[in-house]
Amino acid sequence: MVNWFEKRCLLAPDHIAIIDGDTGERWSYREAEIRACRVAGYLQSHGVAKGDRVALLSRNDVCYFDLLFACGKLGAIFVPLNWRLSANELRYILDDCTPKAVVIHDDMQTLWDGEASPYKVISISDAEYEAALQSDISPAVTEQVHSSDPFAIIYTGGTTGKPKGVVLSHASIFWNSVNTVLSWNLTSNDITPTYMPMFHTGGLNALSLPVLQIGGTVIVSKAFDADKTIELINREHCTIILLVPTMYHMLIKSPLFAATDFPAMHTFLSGGAPCPHTVYQAFVAKGLNFKEGYGLTEAGPNNFYIHPEMAAIKIGSVGKPMILNDIKITDSEGEETKPGEVGEIMLRGGHLFESYWRLPEATAQAFTDGWLHTGDLGRKDEDGYFYIMGRKKDMIITGGENVYPLEVEHLIRQHPSVKEAVVVGLPDDKWGEVVAAVVVTLEGSELDEEQLREYCACSIGKYKVPKKFFYVDELPKTPVGKIDINRIVQSYS
Ligand code: AMP
Repeated sequence: MVNWFEKRCLLAPDHIAIIDGDTGERWSYREAEIRACRVAGYLQSHGVAKGDRVALLSRNDVCYFDLLFACGKLGAIFVPLNWRLSANELRYILDDCTPKAVVIHDDMQTLWDGEASPYKVISISDAEYEAALQSDISPAVTEQVHSSDPFAIIYTGGTTGKPKGVVLSHASIFWNSVNTVLSWNLTSNDITPTYMPMFHTGGLNALSLPVLQIGGTVIVSKAFDADKTIELINREHCTIILLVPTMYHMLIKSPLFAATDFPAMHTFLSGGAPCPHTVYQAFVAKGLNFKEGYGLTEAGPNNFYIHPEMAAIKIGSVGKPMILNDIKITDSEGEETKPGEVGEIMLRGGHLFESYWRLPEATAQAFTDGWLHTGDLGRKDEDGYFYIMGRKKDMIITGGENVYPLEVEHLIRQHPSVKEAVVVGLPDDKWGEVVAAVVVTLEGSELDEEQLREYCACSIGKYKVPKKFFYVDELPKTPVGKIDINRIVQSYS
């Protein structure tokens, strides 16, 4: 099970596995496997062994697959890093997972420059790394890798303000891929572009790995641009794509969208955040199959499937559980709800994560009798179709990126001129939600919006910095004295 990529290469060695969407460079399954072997040999020559963490800081690039599969061979643990985080945030993650090596793409050098690192840093443009990719180096037989061994750690924002490392085993990644291939009817003819970031579950293992597992082709592209995406879909005869609603919003606004029929595409998938009805309608009006998926890093990440015909009838539904997993909705007592009632979405199956990295208590809290608490709300209708109803957990999703308001709020409150602050998500056509801060400053303070924005940008990733700031004399409170979030959202929406 752990060496499925190697075996897949034996089945169709000359089939194209990976394409660089920006340069057009292509690698067959055989070539991709050889690259992974050489990178594994190189990592091993630098002391990387089973259980060691190997972090990667890169925009979407073929090097994600080189390193992921290389780590898989050694039993090392792949840790993709979110390059949009600030240096402090990255440092926190590195100190948490203590990697044996941090591999950095050339594009990321500026982000890394000036960071004195206690970890071994490998640049993929190092002559030695490049030479390894051309060499005959391959890993020596090492310790056996088991399906229960960790394969990757993907960091997600934590509700307590600190990111948590979601540990996915070889088995969970394999299980998600098999489940996705079976439930979404993927075949070796599938060709998918990857615009969602590959440091995130949406870009790494939601669709790319299932497509590789069944022998299809993955196109890696560095940055999303609506026109270029449509051109690429047409040029490479893509068949399926996963984007966040914000990207779809931009896609339908492109003049090329109206002019294109997308003849090869069988599925447009949206995930990561609620999808506006206008987006869905724009695709349906062109006779295209548009589906909304629901997933989370901890679930490896896919859960639902909806048949195209039913998607047009059960509008807004994510469908039914996929073939190899179970889903239920429970009330606050943990009892399963009746159809129509809203409750927490609970998941069960082999695709679920193993643990939060070195956080046994958080791991234990995430599960009840093997069922994962998603912290999301949902309901099921009489026919068994599920609908996502919002979040129980406190989180803003802006352009598909998760922002925990508490983290931003803590930071703003630490500013010496701020008396009180609250951070909320406000509805927005393009971004789904935007981060907004409502701030009370100390008397006599001259702190303006620009200064506060710069202050935030020094400590947190740009996407978390509030797009909107509102200055007020006092925050609205509920009768029991809690900040009245609902009133704030209503007033500023
Ligand atoms: P992540 O772990 O970063 O993939 O974030 C997962 C979270 O994104 C879920 O727990 C949900 O809150 C949210 N999410 C994912 N898909 C959807 C969807 N289709 N509709 C609403 N929220 C979603």
